[in-house]
Amino acid sequence: MLDKVKSAGITGAGGAGFPAHIKLGAKAQSYIINAAECEPLLATDRTLMLNFSKEIIEGIKAVREITPYEKAYIGIKEKNRDCGEALKKFIDVDFIEVRVLRNVYPSGDEQVMIYEILDKVVPEAGIPLDIDVIVNNVETVYRIGKAVLQDEPFSKRFVSIIGEVNNPQVREVPVGTSFSYLLDIAGKKDIDYVAIDGGPMMGKVVEVNEGIVRKTTSGIIFLERDHPLIRRKTQTIKSVVSQARASCCNCMTCTELCSRYLIGHRMEPHKIMRAIGMELTQPHVYEHAMLCSECNICELYACPIGLSPRAVNVKIKNEMRKEGKRFEKERLKEYKAPVFRKGRQLNTTRLTARLGLSKYYSVKPEYITEELKPDMLRIYLNQHIGAPAKAVVDIGNEIKANQLIGKLSGDFSANVHSPLDGKVISKGENYIDIEVRL
Ligand code: SF4
Ligand code: SF4
Repeated sequence: MLDKVKSAGITGAGGAGFPAHIKLGAKAQSYIINAAECEPLLATDRTLMLNFSKEIIEGIKAVREITPYEKAYIGIKEKNRDCGEALKKFIDVDFIEVRVLRNVYPSGDEQVMIYEILDKVVPEAGIPLDIDVIVNNVETVYRIGKAVLQDEPFSKRFVSIIGEVNNPQVREVPVGTSFSYLLDIAGKKDIDYVAIDGGPMMGKVVEVNEGIVRKTTSGIIFLERDHPLIRRKTQTIKSVVSQARASCCNCMTCTELCSRYLIGHRMEPHKIMRAIGMELTQPHVYEHAMLCSECNICELYACPIGLSPRAVNVKIKNEMRKEGKRFEKERLKEYKAPVFRKGRQLNTTRLTARLGLSKYYSVKPEYITEELKPDMLRIYLNQHIGAPAKAVVDIGNEIKANQLIGKLSGDFSANVHSPLDGKVISKGENYIDIEVRL
């Protein structure tokens, strides 16, 4: 069964795209299915749970055949209780349980979810397996079920197509589809668009004509270029650092609301900001930037004067990685969340208002089942963490839907398949362009 997961190219459908066959090659006591979808506005997991509850439960059972966990927990948010009820209809075993989490951000961060469900803390710079837990996103589990039970590779995924469009919707989208095609499908307005690939908090801003759906693309938010959230997210690191130096008053709000600090990690962004402000060159405190999850609470919610500890942390992390440095502090014997943790968690409605996205909050994207067939696909060979897949097709080759086009190369790699019939018309170092047979 694990070979089927490997062969199907299943990677994490959220986050960094970790190859599933590696995760499931380990053994753990608890298996958590992350269905919290804590990023505001996205309705991808919700759609999947309401329409494919049986398949999700089959996927969870299939995982137990691969790695014999004791108990599986499906973490959903309070606002999605109806999804929990839909799933429960198909739970006929005592080793699968639905757990309802508060409507807060970032309840879908895997370390936060583990804390909420199991009352355990992943050690600093550690992974869930360190405390006997494996976590998969709910779409990953759905795709695992498809791979194991129907030999179907991971070549399409569910995507919320939302924001300033006429018909916000959730679709199953062929991997490799362009954002421009999806903007047309969702109803373009006469404005200057950019897109956020992912949720409003952690997603990256991309030009519409450059965006391509990958296995990790859970949502696309189309917004006007001038939207305050876009302006915040596209600040240059130079201006972020100079603002930090000039204006951080060290009020500590960023630390008090930091999602990692609130599970007991020594992540205290105000200290890093202070060190930056004092232009210290190598204070030991910089090492703590490695603990930042980039949840963006400090930048988009906490800081009263709009500074960005997250961007500073990312800059430090990149520099440390380049120098081959890691977080090397001795692990604590015990991690204790601050007593005020619950009161500091961010309610999603309030957060959405702060992001300037309230007008989209009550809009429910429609699930449309009609098959999408764009005329062109650009399929990346590096959609996962680790080494890119190696192309196994050439220009001019006719391709069948679900055919392998990129073969994993190395341990942390994953296979890549074409979602549709077509013909290879060009290739680059990390991509294959396919003209779809319509
Ligand atoms: S919240 Fe803003 S001003 Fe306060 S310490 Fe953090 S970065 Fe500085
Ligand atoms: S982005 Fe900010 S709030 Fe989130 S973990 Fe990093 S420092 Fe903490």
